[in-house]
Amino acid sequence: MVFLAIAVPVPLRKTFHYTHTEPVAIGARVLVSFANRELVGIVVECQSDSAVLEAAEQINLAKLKAITSVLDAQGIFSEQWLGLLTWASSYYQHPIGEVLQTALPSALRKSISSAPKPQQVIQLNDTLQALNVRGNDVTQTVDFIALKRAPKQYALACYVAGHTQGDQQSVNVVGINKAQLRQEFGTPAINALVKKDIFVETSHVPTTGSWFTQTGAAHFQAIAGLSANVEQSIAITGINSQLGQFGCFLLEGITGSGKTEVYLQVINQVLQRGQQVLILVPEIGLTPQTVSRFAARFGISVGVLHSGLSDNERLAVWQQARLNQIGLVIGTRSAVFTPLPELGMIIIDEEHDDSFKQQDGLRYHARDVAIMLAQRQKIPIILGTATPVLETLQRAISGKFQHFVLAKRAGDAAIAPVNLIDICQQPLTYGLAPTTIEVMQSHLAQGNQVLLFINRRGFAPAVVCQQCGHVEDCRACDKPMTYHKAQARLVCHQCLAQAPAPHRCSACGATELMTQGVGTEQLEQGLAELFPQYSTIRIDSDSMRGKQTLANTIEQINQREHQILLGTQILAKGHHFAHVTCVVIMDVDGALFSADFRAPEKLSQLITQISGRAGRADKPGETFLQTTQPGHPLLQDLVNNGYGHFARFALHEREQAQLPPYSFQAVFRAEDENPQRAIQVLQYAKQLLSNMSNISTVGPVPCLIEKKQARYRYMLIIQSPYRDLRQKVLATIVDDCNEYANKLRVRWSIDVDNIDFN
Ligand code: ADP
Ligand code: ZN
Repeated sequence: MVFLAIAVPVPLRKTFHYTHTEPVAIGARVLVSFANRELVGIVVECQSDSAVLEAAEQINLAKLKAITSVLDAQGIFSEQWLGLLTWASSYYQHPIGEVLQTALPSALRKSISSAPKPQQVIQLNDTLQALNVRGNDVTQTVDFIALKRAPKQYALACYVAGHTQGDQQSVNVVGINKAQLRQEFGTPAINALVKKDIFVETSHVPTTGSWFTQTGAAHFQAIAGLSANVEQSIAITGINSQLGQFGCFLLEGITGSGKTEVYLQVINQVLQRGQQVLILVPEIGLTPQTVSRFAARFGISVGVLHSGLSDNERLAVWQQARLNQIGLVIGTRSAVFTPLPELGMIIIDEEHDDSFKQQDGLRYHARDVAIMLAQRQKIPIILGTATPVLETLQRAISGKFQHFVLAKRAGDAAIAPVNLIDICQQPLTYGLAPTTIEVMQSHLAQGNQVLLFINRRGFAPAVVCQQCGHVEDCRACDKPMTYHKAQARLVCHQCLAQAPAPHRCSACGATELMTQGVGTEQLEQGLAELFPQYSTIRIDSDSMRGKQTLANTIEQINQREHQILLGTQILAKGHHFAHVTCVVIMDVDGALFSADFRAPEKLSQLITQISGRAGRADKPGETFLQTTQPGHPLLQDLVNNGYGHFARFALHEREQAQLPPYSFQAVFRAEDENPQRAIQVLQYAKQLLSNMSNISTVGPVPCLIEKKQARYRYMLIIQSPYRDLRQKVLATIVDDCNEYANKLRVRWSIDVDNIDFN
């Protein structure tokens, strides 16, 4: 008999003990009955010596239940990965069962087998295949010639012959996946050839060999890269000299400076060693172009993981990765939990991007988890960006991270300088100042493209009654609803509640309603009026549904089918537009007055990222920022000295104020229909923390999103100059707080290393 410690997906911060008749692999899934339900848990400990357990855990072994069944013969998480997940559980103060659940592909959260499924495979019959493998032209055999009367079958047979050729050493002649053939040639043709004994159909369990042996070490040869410039060479040599050991590298390079080329060249070295590489990219950055750029260079298949996959697609990639059958995995945030047994390097592209932070459940930051993973695996990790977050920059400056700078664009294209346009007391047409319209006109007249950034979707951010001044609010959030003209609806951008567009004021009944402010939809209309001779394309989450649409649109833009590009955040990420020479940024003044101390940093990143979309060697670009605050010191610094200078100055200010990264924060949030109850929970937490040295608290105060879906939201900010101390203190109070909040039935959460106060 053995005793198992099992992580069960319940919101309790501990593992649970069960028994079984024989040892179970660590990391294997088991089915257990828990509070009258059958749940899938993961074995984190297997102990045969009851005395050890009794002493350590003080549990009554006689009362333990047996597990229902074992689902995996082998652990699906290695001990190393379990170690990482256990760390994440304690660092983010989140129940271990839920952490493991987050890391598991959803298909495996059910009690299905994790063994790779056998695939139906089609191959030529033995005689033909023997000829084929030896390099003979089987299409000249009588069997093939006889097939010519059935063109579809002939084409199919030729296809299979062509794809299963090779020398005898090749381990790859296992036939072709039937499902794949079925899509192209249809079932009848396949069945006909099986019946004629030209094909044999077998069931094949995907090989267990690694991607490297399958590709063949001798065969793996990357396409030669570009010849690196001096800055790139320094980074490449620096990173290559430290393979096989932990090292964190900040690659600070302006847009278009060739960061991706650096990644490609160092990845090549890691793949040559037969190791795997994990690349994390922002949600919007994961386009087919990104993937094909990596796949094309190395000629190997790339595992892609993002939120748009079906459960089975995700599982297939996860399995291949876990069995070392793919060398390269590119994914968004949650891909950081993919078990990669031969991991040799991690790359975080656009490390400043907020999509790496999960904002519910396990509130982890994929960058920080990845750094911990690299440290545990003793491998290098590269953080690449044009605009490092201050936390990262500070570690680079202080020498904790190694720092490489790419200050020049490859090919010497200039970065677009930023100009401020003062819009005070200017007549605005659809939000555009006369000067703005003029510069747009002149760029367009020269045959170039103009990019307009505005961060508001919809037609207008508010509908106001002209009689009484009443604003149509979302009742659940107390925030103005956005008018979407095309759908004739009001939408709350906070909780996504919808209502038909009103004809009368809901307060006084008057019919004179007007809109206030400008969103993408209205600006699109306005641009058609102002620039009727040019085509405008709107790019926001309303107009771009599905990844393919965005990819197509970008292709159209590069083909110059549109001259004016109008869009939101989507435009700020990753894509480079060679024909854009003028970038206009509208309406970002709000960030200058935000209560969030990170707002200036985020604004500077946004402006820098957007202006980086424009310009190339023979066509330098320029950026125009419309503002009512042209004298604001932040804007002046950014415009005159660039992000790097701004960021170093901002770090100095953070140090003066003892804000992160010079201190460590966590936020407790509580939300309830009754604000008093939310406050009460936070007061309780605050009182537990009072009188602790080197721990300070702010609050309870309303969150920056004060109300959402009818619940009032409050926060308590906890800060300490010491990370370890903060962790220790959080761990001592979290159970108490949890119990207290549960008693009051108030929703609450802990956000360790929060990146906002929303
Ligand atoms: P980043 O990732 O920093 O935005 P990319 O790696 O995408 O930059 O490079 C921008 C452009 O410059 C690409 O078209 C790339 O092919 C080109 N490029 C990068 N490095 C070099 C180089 N060493 N020589 C010539 N062209 C380069
Ligand atoms: Zn709402």
